[in-house]
Amino acid sequence: MSTFRGLLLSKSEAADGAKFSANVADIPLSDLPADGDVVVRIEYSTLNYKDGLAIANKSPVVRKWPIVAGIDGAGTVESSDHPAWKAGDKVILNGWGVGENHWGCLGQRAKLKGDWLVRLPDAFTTQQAMAIGTAGYTAMLCCLALEQHGVNKSQGEILVTGASGGVGSVAISILSSWGYDVVASTGKLNETEYLKSLGAKEVIDRATLSAVGKPLQKERWAGVVDSVGSHTLVNAVAQTRYRGVVAACGLAQGADFPATVMPFILRGVVLAGVDSVYQPMATRLAAWARLASDLDLKKLDSITTTIKLGDAIAAADDVLAAKIRGRLVVVVNA
Ligand code: NDP
Repeated sequence: MSTFRGLLLSKSEAADGAKFSANVADIPLSDLPADGDVVVRIEYSTLNYKDGLAIANKSPVVRKWPIVAGIDGAGTVESSDHPAWKAGDKVILNGWGVGENHWGCLGQRAKLKGDWLVRLPDAFTTQQAMAIGTAGYTAMLCCLALEQHGVNKSQGEILVTGASGGVGSVAISILSSWGYDVVASTGKLNETEYLKSLGAKEVIDRATLSAVGKPLQKERWAGVVDSVGSHTLVNAVAQTRYRGVVAACGLAQGADFPATVMPFILRGVVLAGVDSVYQPMATRLAAWARLASDLDLKKLDSITTTIKLGDAIAAADDVLAAKIRGRLVVVVNA
């Protein structure tokens, strides 16, 4: 095999400005990036929100052209010049700028740095690892942030925003399995039964959080996992109880944060930012270990929809339009 199928994003100069294209193409193996030291036969990748932005060219996610898209993937090592990895090893890749400034995992091969890879936990197949994907691993980082900042079950309810999305669905599953009372905020009230099946105790309309609100509101949440940002995050902070913790990882509503300092200086609320891309290896391994021990695989299955590589371009628009429930896994060999 001298080529592999991959989802290639390109920009070419045209008289009326740069012209963007997204195609599934047969790409020469010799084009794989020279600065990787492990070639991985990717089996599954996913469509995260960031992949949606990159494939639809809606935000400056990609910083190197052309590029194979895909910020995460799981598969089997084909060859390695890195001492930690050998042919046959099962691996996971999340972040490190892959799919942004290094060729990504929405293709049958990826050439990655061995220092970036996580060994597939025994608990998961490569398909399940990508059902979790970057969104699910980020959900675990958010849940661990609540735990590390001292939130416990006796302190009250946890709010999860963007509840029917990837981060939200996995966060609900984790927090409910840890025994928390989880309240899910969603724009899809028709998904109430789904959200309750994941473990939400109550489902609220996201419209109650998405508009401008007062700087300090009635205290309700012991903790929050927010993947939405903007006024939703501001209102969630304003409703957080004394010394509660808000883990913020996303911007589905917006990147703005039009808040006051009042919840921080009068209630001691902690705002914990969560980044998954450049998270140190020790934290990644801890997050994947907790996913392996704590995530209910039946719930994971109910969160997951599987699509073919050829359907990924059309699905990117659905991701950005919030039409997807849970996680989209991409079979790169189909
Ligand atoms: P998804 O597309 O799966 O889910 C996002 C959810 O947000 C939607 O399903 C919807 O949930 C809600 N939403 C969408 N648009 C709006 C809106 N205008 N106002 C309020 N809510 C909205 O994305 P992911 O779960 O994969 O990612 C969520 C966010 O987290 C993204 O912004 C992503 O970039 C970010 N992220 C950040 C990471 C990091 O390293 N910091 C890593 C992973 C993700 P519902 O219909 O239920 O309301």
